Amino acid sequence: MSAASDVLIVGGGVIGLSLAWELSQAGAKVSVVDRGPLGREASWAGAGMIPAGPGPEHWSDCTPRQQLAGMSQQLHLDWHRRLFEATGINNGYRASGALYLADSKAAATALQAEVEQWLRTGIECHRLDTGQVVDVEPALAKTADRFSESYLVPQEAQLRNPRHVQALIAACQQQAVDLQPGVAIHDFELTNGRINAAVTSSGSIQAGQFCLTAGCWTGQLASRLGIDLPLKPIRGQIVLLNGPAGLLRRHVNVGKRYLVPRVEGRLLVGSTMEDVGFLKQNTGVATADLLGFAATLVPSASRMAIETSWSGLRPASVDGLPFLGQLPKISNGWIATGHFRAGLQLSTATAVVMRSLLLKETPTVDLAMFGCEGRELHCESARI
Ligand SMILES: Cc1cc2nc3c(=O)[nH]c(=O)nc-3n(C[C@H](O)[C@H](O)[C@H](O)COP(=O)(O)OP(=O)(O)OC[C@H]3O[C@@H](n4cnc5c(N)ncnc54)[C@H](O)[C@@H]3O)c2cc1C
Repeated sequence: MSAASDVLIVGGGVIGLSLAWELSQAGAKVSVVDRGPLGREASWAGAGMIPAGPGPEHWSDCTPRQQLAGMSQQLHLDWHRRLFEATGINNGYRASGALYLADSKAAATALQAEVEQWLRTGIECHRLDTGQVVDVEPALAKTADRFSESYLVPQEAQLRNPRHVQALIAACQQQAVDLQPGVAIHDFELTNGRINAAVTSSGSIQAGQFCLTAGCWTGQLASRLGIDLPLKPIRGQIVLLNGPAGLLRRHVNVGKRYLVPRVEGRLLVGSTMEDVGFLKQNTGVATADLLGFAATLVPSASRMAIETSWSGLRPASVDGLPFLGQLPKISNGWIATGHFRAGLQLSTATAVVMRSLLLKETPTVDLAMFGCEGRELHCESARI
């Protein structure tokens, strides 16, 4: 039997795998267990948008959430290169840019508030008139005049979730991370505020430290440790269309819905925000709504083939901020979850700050507002 790991990571989504890679590169012996295949839940289902974050010169004026976004944006480009060098897998990261369009007075007010925040933190952003929208995205020629406010954010990026997760798995394997798909954690053996072992479907697993990264299921695990975590699943559905390459070049965001074009012509149409518990499925009404949204924006989308559709469960905290830090009253227990609509985006910085915590170093971002307790004091909504 192999020696116990320094760290056992519970949940092999993008958060758990990113942390495992980061810790293993720092010399830690790491295990990752997942009750299913690795990276097949929300991390697979996401659209892969990486919104632009503030540059380091602005971080001293930013909230910790904004700092995480800025750090993540920088790290994504670096990880894209390093993951490719290490594994030969291209995660598809590219700064394709994004348009943000407001289709009502209320939406325009909300968008303007967001734009002010972007500009205050140095995020490049340009107001476009209807003609300029059509210049940058000719596919919007018939619909651009319906939007009262339109902004271009050139630095917004995207990556391909399944490829990114595959690259992380391969990179972890190279670092000798002990990956255990198909192993569910049911409980923990706890003595004097310290976890001795995780109780799994195939026996106990001991480790020096334990980190919960089980996405929207983390609340169930935390409850086994006597912690009431205010976290719930919010379902998102996506419909994938297949059409001509180059129809759109940038993400087009209208409120919470979006079109994300892939280079080969696929077009992701997302998404819904549904509070339906742990029910993962696509529904007729949401599919019709998403297809209607796509066709209203880009009329030729109504003639594109529907390749497939899927749904995923976002881990949503009460205030939209992740939980990052130590588990209350557990000396060797940690948590990194609740990233809601921004888990792909924030995965890189999350891994870096959590690595610091687990290695008893001081993280470069103040994580006080991401603790498990006293969260009602902070209310900053998620960016995407
Ligand atoms: C439709 C949709 C679109 C999205 N678009 C974006 C986007 O464009 N950009 C962005 O940044 N984010 C996006 N997100 C959000 C993002 O996908 C999530 O925030 C992120 O994937 C969460 O990652 P995670 O690792 O915490 O959770 P998950 O990927 O859900 O991973 C948790 C893992 O824990 C495992 N697990 C659960 N319970 C146990 C147990 N008891 N024992 C062992 N393992 C267990 C699960 O099997 C799972 O693999 C989107 C999400 C959805 C659904």
